[in-house]
Amino acid sequence: MTVQPIRLFGDPVLRTPADPVVDFDVELRKLVADLTDTMREQNGAGLAAPQLGVGLRVFAFDVDDVLGHLVNPVLEFPDAEEQDGPEGCLSIPGLYFDTKRRQNVIAKGFNGYGDPVQIVGTGLMARCVQHETDHLDGVLFVDRLDPDGRKEAMRAIRQADWYDPTTPPTVKLNPHAASSPFGLGR
Ligand SMILES: [Zn+2]
Repeated sequence: MTVQPIRLFGDPVLRTPADPVVDFDVELRKLVADLTDTMREQNGAGLAAPQLGVGLRVFAFDVDDVLGHLVNPVLEFPDAEEQDGPEGCLSIPGLYFDTKRRQNVIAKGFNGYGDPVQIVGTGLMARCVQHETDHLDGVLFVDRLDPDGRKEAMRAIRQADWYDPTTPPTVKLNPHAASSPFGLGR
């Protein structure tokens, strides 16, 4: 019922920083339900609101049988330890690339009722929390790859059957505005 279509790479909403949640109301809890249902239907480890086209700082997660959500997350890193391993994204379906992340994270935020929540994550949970919080800043995991890895990822994305090159990766300029500086002065 509440499964929603997921926005794919190339959709400008994925590149737009999301706004903090101000109202912890029934609409927010409906958004959390949509995120949770859509994530589970797709067997995802996490899903952020911009992936459903909603510009709010909310994500759901389902890692190691821990199902939850976090609103207005703020991340802290208790140490400098790193991990490197395969990462994917429901907005970049079918493609996985080794991505460096911090091994440990403490995520502070709120639940759908505005109660403070803290997630102490390690390994996969830490990776998920960093990936989803990136989404809220308009950052995708391919941005975290080194230049060679990013090149390889972009090539794979352009060849993916779901990729629609007519979807502009950024906001399209008005063609008339764009042409005017080069106008012929007629
Ligand atoms: Zn993602």
